[in-house]
Amino acid sequence: MDEQCPCLSGQPYLTCCAPLLSGTRKAETAGQLMRSRYCAFVKQSAEYLIQTLHPSKRRHDDAEQLRHSFIDTDWLGLTILRQELGQPVDSSGRVEFIARFLQAGRAGQIHECSEFVKEKDTWFYVDGSRQPESLPARNEPCWCGNGKKFKKCHGFHR
Ligand SMILES: [Zn+2]
Ligand SMILES: [Zn+2]
Repeated sequence: MDEQCPCLSGQPYLTCCAPLLSGTRKAETAGQLMRSRYCAFVKQSAEYLIQTLHPSKRRHDDAEQLRHSFIDTDWLGLTILRQELGQPVDSSGRVEFIARFLQAGRAGQIHECSEFVKEKDTWFYVDGSRQPESLPARNEPCWCGNGKKFKKCHGFHR
């Protein structure tokens, strides 16, 4: 069976985000770039994350910082909450998402509104503003998918 895309689009990885990460296809929308960047975190591709970051935002130690952030982080899934503009006809866009992860045995999330721009037909991530966390309630199923309640699984510390 084909590997499902980590971005949870429901498509196989090979026809969803893989061609973007390998450079054989470009993101047509801000949402596609968002999904592919999430996959780059899952696949630990610092190169792709830097390449899709707007050149004005790159720093000399990006690769090192990214590689450090990969250690100990298991990504559990991505939910795109909304996208404003960011379509093929647009030159800017905004995507609000929640990315869930486990880090050192604790559940966490990034809830962010991300800004994207398109220059010369190429979408870039510019920056994002963090939004309040919304973790599962104590009695809801844990994000890791093992069927236990959040409080008895990765939410024990909250
Ligand atoms: Zn994907
Ligand atoms: Zn869990």
